[in-house]
Amino acid sequence: MVRESWEIATYEGGHLTIDLAAIRTNYAVIAARVAPARVAAVVKADAYGLGAVAVVQALVAEDCRDFFVAHLAEALELKPFLPADAHLYVLNGLPPGAEAACAAAGVLPVLNSWEQAMAWRDLAVRQQRRSPAVLQIDTGMSRLGLSPEDVARLGEVPAFFDQVEIKLVMSHLACADMPGALANREQLARFEALAGLLPLAPRSLANSAGSFVGPAFHGDLVRAGLALYGAGPFEGMASLMHQAVRLDARVIQVRTVQSGTGVGYGLTFTASRNTQIATVAVGYADGWPRRLGGRGAAYFKGVRLPIIGRVSMDSMTLDVTALANGALTPGDTVELIGPHQTLEDVAADADTITYEILTNLGRRYRRTYVGERVHPPLEVVA
Ligand SMILES: *Cc1c(COP(=O)(O)O)cnc(C)c1O
Repeated sequence: MVRESWEIATYEGGHLTIDLAAIRTNYAVIAARVAPARVAAVVKADAYGLGAVAVVQALVAEDCRDFFVAHLAEALELKPFLPADAHLYVLNGLPPGAEAACAAAGVLPVLNSWEQAMAWRDLAVRQQRRSPAVLQIDTGMSRLGLSPEDVARLGEVPAFFDQVEIKLVMSHLACADMPGALANREQLARFEALAGLLPLAPRSLANSAGSFVGPAFHGDLVRAGLALYGAGPFEGMASLMHQAVRLDARVIQVRTVQSGTGVGYGLTFTASRNTQIATVAVGYADGWPRRLGGRGAAYFKGVRLPIIGRVSMDSMTLDVTALANGALTPGDTVELIGPHQTLEDVAADADTITYEILTNLGRRYRRTYVGERVHPPLEVVA
């Protein structure tokens, strides 16, 4: 979308536009890059804040059938929106006592510890049926997953693999955003050795960034999150993706302050000349980083408007002197994320990562989903 200023028909301070066609195209781009490996969509945290139900439905139309969330609670909410032939996995594992609820919902737990593996086996024994699950191996990140010793021990549990059907063996890379890191190759080697101790099952190691480390990392299933939503942890990757999010903020006041006048909490900004300022109705309670006070910007018709003073809870002020007098009036909107300012730009200004910007975009905005039509596919770069 290259609209300069988004019409806000209602009275919210900000407007989040989510381009489902861009998300679908991003899925297709990744799928083409990693084929014959399949691509799962990571839709945890409400699809990184963009709305898991809408994202899932868009991706089902792209033939995506594998979806990961973080919590069982997220899975139980999302399951009714999935087609019957889709798989829904819970990355954070099986909470104690939740085995029956997880099985009843047809959700696949990621077994992250010996205790979880045994609890899932016990359920299978009680219910007298083979229970499907994912097994995660900790290959070096020390966050979640069975230790190498536990993986080896599983083979000694009588009939374990008759009772638990391993649908997928997975691990997670600690340094996927550093493609050259030795740690990636070490994790891959450990993963292959440990997965080799288990019955043959599809394998999954790479997240979005991991899919760029090299074909050896693709395994059978790539777990893509961030890249679907149009961002990338490194330059080359972001440029391959279609931007899927646009954020516009409503102007609520425009004024001229005289040289020497302070602006905002703490009066951290003092005008050094007569300055045209605009107050816009987006602040840190909308997930816009407070850190951007005095460093970030908004855009209007392509003109950069620096954020001056502190970001308040519900508003912030912009220096709009660069615009012609009267060019901006209350009710207009300015671009916070869009063609002139990417998620990467905002993350860099706020000293953080695109993941944090994206997942913080609050629920306070009016949201519009666009993108019935699929974008023309991008050139695929191997
Ligand atoms: C969040 C997550 C992903 C997705 O990561 P992206 O970098 O967003 O692609 C994949 N795997 C695991 C285990 C995760 O926690």
